Amino acid sequence: MTHEPYDTQAASYALGALDGEERPEFERHLAGGCAVCGAALRASAETLAAMVRSGPPMVPPPAVKEALLRRIATTTPGRRASARPRPLVWAVGTLAAMIAGAAFTGAFVASRYEGRLGQMAREAAALRERVQRDEAALREQIAVYRSAVDLLRDPQTQIVTLHGLGPSPEATGRVIWHPVNGGYVFVANLPSAPAGKAYELWTIADAAPQPAGVFQVDASGRGTHRIPPLEGGKPVKVFAVTLEPEGGVPAPTGPMVLASK
Ligand SMILES: [Zn+2]
Repeated sequence: MTHEPYDTQAASYALGALDGEERPEFERHLAGGCAVCGAALRASAETLAAMVRSGPPMVPPPAVKEALLRRIATTTPGRRASARPRPLVWAVGTLAAMIAGAAFTGAFVASRYEGRLGQMAREAAALRERVQRDEAALREQIAVYRSAVDLLRDPQTQIVTLHGLGPSPEATGRVIWHPVNGGYVFVANLPSAPAGKAYELWTIADAAPQPAGVFQVDASGRGTHRIPPLEGGKPVKVFAVTLEPEGGVPAPTGPMVLASK
């Protein structure tokens, strides 16, 4: 037996594209210890591994594809059983191997890029969420500043200074106050409220302090809070801030941190 039929089979075998009688025949031949086929098999395996490692899927050049199709076209079914079936088998085997290799490489590359694309999509979503949050906070801040400026245009509006007390003597604050429209308190240098706590604003007119809402300060110790007007537009004598449970309480219980007098 000549070596000729085995010359072309190692590559197909490496790709699992060797079928029928040829597979056991080739395996028997390999088991016989043929150095030529052993080397060809190793080379094919290495080529396949390199193909998988190197980026984009490999597409057969048009010239190769045309040549293969021409060979398949010129090999009629009648000639398949003839004395020279090898070229067709080789052509089909090579084409199948190329398709299998390209699909394998494609799937490998696709899964790698899918992972990267998924990560990029998650990062983009997180960024979009943060931008939307920042934008909402900015809009809110602009709305506060705009209505504070509107209040300042009104000659009835007063500006009241708040002084730090007890636990936070360095804290400062200003109230922009309109007897009919209410106003805003702006504070600075207040430490962040401990967990479960918040600052509560009080307005004192003629009797007991009235709760006017709770607020928090940011990392730099600054905070802004809208103060609703008092019923009947009663004049406020004192504004005060105490540290309270974060839900707010109907009457002050905690230490006073800021007051207007
Ligand atoms: Zn051999």
